[in-house]
Amino acid sequence: METTVTRPDDYLRQRGIKASFQRVSIFDYLRRTSEHPSVSGIFSELHSKIPSLSRATVYNTINLFLEKNIVIPVQVDGPEARYDLAEPHHAHFHCQMCQKIYDISSEEIPIPEMLRDFVVREAQLHYMGVCPQCR
Ligand SMILES: [Zn+2]
Ligand SMILES: [Zn+2]
Repeated sequence: METTVTRPDDYLRQRGIKASFQRVSIFDYLRRTSEHPSVSGIFSELHSKIPSLSRATVYNTINLFLEKNIVIPVQVDGPEARYDLAEPHHAHFHCQMCQKIYDISSEEIPIPEMLRDFVVREAQLHYMGVCPQCR
């Protein structure tokens, strides 16, 4: 998802990660795409531009990003986990027909009345069903 981060290298460094070219490229791809790609998806997209990039590097980078809360896994059934940037916080709709994952901005998500006096620090909202193109 599009992010408010303007300088990926600074953003990674603030999280204690060395901002290598490959890591910055993976971060950059995640903020440009709305695909919610898997490790294979990231690899096949970036491999042609960065021939030195290996699938293992993508895998390790995603694990590092998960550990540092830069990336979140998007819950979908399927052979491979798919990912998105953690910020800005948002929810997802997964179409079970075309497998597309739609972003839902947090402003569109109402806070349940029951939580009015609570401090909500985190919420994971994941909708599933059939998108308008597949109906
Ligand atoms: Zn669909
Ligand atoms: Zn998303």
